[in-house]
Parts: sequence; C-alpha cells; structure tokens
Amino acid sequence: MNLQNITLIYFDYFELGFLNTIAGKIHQVFPLKIHLKEGHIDLSDFYDLNRRQYNANNLIQYVDSHFATDNAKTIGLFNVDLYIPIFTYIFGQAFLGGRTGIASLSRLNNESYGMNPNINILKERFSKEIIHELGHNFGLIHCHVPDCVMRSSTYVEDIDQKGADLCPSCHKTFMQLLIQNNF
Ligand SMILES: [Zn+2]
Ligand SMILES: [Zn+2]
Repeated sequence: MNLQNITLIYFDYFELGFLNTIAGKIHQVFPLKIHLKEGHIDLSDFYDLNRRQYNANNLIQYVDSHFATDNAKTIGLFNVDLYIPIFTYIFGQAFLGGRTGIASLSRLNNESYGMNPNINILKERFSKEIIHELGHNFGLIHCHVPDCVMRSSTYVEDIDQKGADLCPSCHKTFMQLLIQNNF
C-alpha cells in the first residue's frame, strides 16, 4: 500500500474552521497530509424506522465502496445517531487494518446531555473519536492504558477522561505496523 493521506469526508454540515481544527489535532498524532472533502449520501437509505437511528454497518460499507481508495485512510464524518445491532449507539467504527472508518458528532455535544454547549470540548471529543478510528484503520486494537486514545469509550465521559494521543506502547505498535505494511 502506498499511503498518501488521511481523507476526511463530511456528509453533514460542518463549519470549515471546526474541521480544520480537527484536522490539525489528527495531524499531531498521524503526521500525514489531511484532506477535507465534501461528500453526498442519501442518509434515508440507512435510517432504521424502528430504532430512529442510522445503521453504521451499512454506512461504513457504503463509504468504503463509494468513497475510499487504497492510498488513503478515509473517515466519513456524520452528525446522525449511529447504531450497530448489538449496541444502543456508537460514536464511530472502523475496519481493523482497513482503509475506512466513520465517526459521528451526534451524542458528542453537551446539549445531548442537557449541558451548555462548549465548542472546545466538542472539538476535543470529535478529534479523539476520529483518531481512535484511524488507529483501528492502522491496525491498532483497544488499549487499557487510561489516557490512551485507543481505550474504548462507551460514554462521552470515557472520551473526556482519555487523551488524544497514542500511549508509548500503541505508538510503538503503530510504528511497527507502518513498517510491516509498507505504508
Ligand atoms: Zn475502538
Ligand atoms: Zn495504548
């Protein structure tokens, strides 16, 4: 694989300044070029009427087959409530060692929890979520180090408690995977 960049494709409205901040934070962890692109998907195809949520398994497959390329890690950005059948909701998901992931801003904002909006907290949470999914794309699995970004997060508080960076052990694995996979 000849990995050239990380591509963030946004399928909902996001302010460009917001996305640029997120891209900057991702770049600090994965020092590759970050491309921002607008994409279009008919989200109604992924809506489950009973759950009133969007099927993340179908969505990631669609992003993978229609928008991803072999020379990039592609993360689809959304602002809708995502689910997979075994979970009530998810913040995002990614193919382990693959080229595609998705992440949603929905459920990351304070307003969803009856608190005052805070754009800085929202940026932190969204970038951690995207960095986490990219970590999976690079082949990293979940980590138990409390402040490692590869720690799994069930609740938004879990995201707040961890950092945005890879712990030394995950960083070492990441470097090994880069060499092994000839990125
Ligand atoms: Zn994960
Ligand atoms: Zn770690």
